[in-house]
Amino acid sequence: MSARDVLRKIIGIELDENSPFGYPARQHALDISHNVILYLDEITVSFDGFKALNKLNLMIDAGELRCIIGPNGAGKTTMMDVITGKTRSDSGTAFFGQSIDLSRLTEAEIAQAGIGRKFQKPTLFEHHSVFENLELAMTTDKRARVTLTACLRDEDRDRIADTLRLIRLDGETDRPAGLLSHGQKQWLEIGMLLMQDPRLLLLDEPVAGMTDDETMRTAELFVSLAGKHSLVVVEHDMAFVKALGGKVTVLHEGSVLAEGDLDAVQNDQRVIEVYLGR
Ligand code: ADP
Ligand code: MG
Repeated sequence: MSARDVLRKIIGIELDENSPFGYPARQHALDISHNVILYLDEITVSFDGFKALNKLNLMIDAGELRCIIGPNGAGKTTMMDVITGKTRSDSGTAFFGQSIDLSRLTEAEIAQAGIGRKFQKPTLFEHHSVFENLELAMTTDKRARVTLTACLRDEDRDRIADTLRLIRLDGETDRPAGLLSHGQKQWLEIGMLLMQDPRLLLLDEPVAGMTDDETMRTAELFVSLAGKHSLVVVEHDMAFVKALGGKVTVLHEGSVLAEGDLDAVQNDQRVIEVYLGR
């Protein structure tokens, strides 16, 4: 059996003979000159007949920093729910990396495969220090958590120190997480995600409630993470989106309305109509 046949058997769909990745053949064929990390193809999700996602197509390159904008109810959070396995699509396919069919994995397996998600409300260990929060995030093995700092390897210590610098909390190492500012808590949670070294990070409204200064620092952080990680960021704050500088996708009624750089989508008549209301 050829590798392609094996893949066909595993993922159970017809493959594009011209694609080395074996993605399904479609009229909007995969651009194989890119290294695609996430590929949503015609994803539909219905809630009691209402289509929260309606044949949504999205392709994210490895290392890309993509912003998703769109009015309330556009389907942005539902899209993240589908990618992380929290919600199952009614139809369509979702691929991660070159051959992982997300619809066949559980939420835990998707996280294990390298997709990390940050929710709006931080879920920190409030009574533990900043350092310990990062340490706890490193392992998914609950038994290992009891021991904490005692048996930390040097390389783990270095990783934590690097992450502390990255999230600008190296001056707050021993502070209980519960005493951090709102913005610092958000950064710590991003740091905790990073400790699991995800290939793709999904961030839903990460700067909500942050000061302008914290917002710009967060933009700098995300720009610095791009390349090593791929990021999909849902955000309403246009100053933040501008500072990120990546490609912007506008969702509306569960599909892509426009895609391009921020200036282009902001000047798109359809986008203006959607935001101003008809
Ligand atoms: P956004 O994040 O862009 O504001 P959502 O993805 O949260 O939008 O929601 C898209 C649409 O789907 C909304 O109309 C919302 O009410 C609906 N929706 C989302 N989740 C559910 C659910 N679990 N049950 C029913 N309707 C839902
Ligand atoms: Mg939302």
